[in-house]
Amino acid sequence: MRDKHWTDDELFARLYDVRPGHDHLARCAGCAQRMSAIRRRYEEIRPLQVEVSPEFLAAQRRAIHARIHAKRHSLPRVLVPVIATLLLAGIIIVYRPASVVPPPKQQISDSELFDDVYNRISDPLPTSAGPIRSLFQEQK
Ligand SMILES: [Zn+2]
Repeated sequence: MRDKHWTDDELFARLYDVRPGHDHLARCAGCAQRMSAIRRRYEEIRPLQVEVSPEFLAAQRRAIHARIHAKRHSLPRVLVPVIATLLLAGIIIVYRPASVVPPPKQQISDSELFDDVYNRISDPLPTSAGPIRSLFQEQK
């Protein structure tokens, strides 16, 4: 497998001696040249680096831990849509429109029922022929 050139992050990791592994710089002239340029620039700006007090670093560390701790106790992002859905379902259940109650059927007496059935049976034409029959009756 061919060796890949190192990225800038890998070169900076080597600069600070935190990159483990094989030494690509011994075999690659391009990466070695980039590394030497980074080292030269680092030596130029090294005297300009500001000393940071341990108290500042400790305060920064406490702030980072406080933010991590605050995020741990906040509401997980997964629960927000679930809670919103449940709330919406609750609102729909509480404020849903009242079901429509059908009106009571009209009560008819037995004699009216028998008259209606007799009229339907005694007429030889179906009820759908009624309009056509009325046309013929008007022309007479
Ligand atoms: Zn290389």
